[in-house]
Amino acid sequence: FKRLALKAESKDELYQMGETFNHMIDLLEANFEKQKLFVSNASHEFKTPLTIIESYASLLKRRGANDPKLFEESIEAIHSEAVRMKDMTEQLLMLAKHHERWDILPSRFNLVELVEQTVKAFQGAYHRKIILDGDFLPTITVKTDEQKLKQLLFIFLDNARKYSDDMIMVSLGIDGEEACIRIMDKGIGISEDELPKVFDRFYRVDQARSRKSGGTGLGLSLAKEIAEAIDIRITLESKEGTGTTASLFIPL
Ligand code: ADP
Repeated sequence: FKRLALKAESKDELYQMGETFNHMIDLLEANFEKQKLFVSNASHEFKTPLTIIESYASLLKRRGANDPKLFEESIEAIHSEAVRMKDMTEQLLMLAKHHERWDILPSRFNLVELVEQTVKAFQGAYHRKIILDGDFLPTITVKTDEQKLKQLLFIFLDNARKYSDDMIMVSLGIDGEEACIRIMDKGIGISEDELPKVFDRFYRVDQARSRKSGGTGLGLSLAKEIAEAIDIRITLESKEGTGTTASLFIPL
């Protein structure tokens, strides 16, 4: 700033520079605060599963050998908390890198095949019924990063699975200049007040339910970043008690 100030040709220019400088400091401070909050949230999120693992492990050490029921319960809890920590670490690593520095590998492919394959893989992994809605066109060619789009689809399918007990519906069609994938569930839904907040890191409407179903509170914030990185528009519509529809719009 000092070096720049020497080059200023008038008082006005100097004043302008001062303003810009102040603005930059404000931005830096705000970013720093955000980072601090992120680190504190992340540490807190890791502490919970670690505490659960630690207490079950010490229970196992003390009484596990003589109590088969306790043994089973502890192993189950330790396993699911470890899986959650692994998911969280993967998501955090991706978020920490920020999408501007991800390797994006666009290719041309048939979106119909990608949706059908992803749905099949998801059904296989979670044994949840997914209905492919309506008649799919045989081919919808798009150009984007196939793996990232798959990841995006998985996040929304996974949320539909976690927050509903009924079947999940997936539709695919063309909407103007875009292809549109819709993932619909008839689950607990999200209230109007909560809806704008669910894309924030670590935000959950219901902590207990999200944790119980293996949630990390990072899925939708990662989805937002992936969508930005590969030029996909997302909308999320929801009604509490009725269900949720996520729509992904992919340019043709
Ligand atoms: P989580 O890992 O907790 O599911 P997400 O970032 O994916 O985190 O979602 C944030 C929160 O938004 C969830 O904890 C949940 O409360 C709410 N949510 C997301 N998808 C749905 C859905 N399909 N139905 C109801 N609530 C949802």
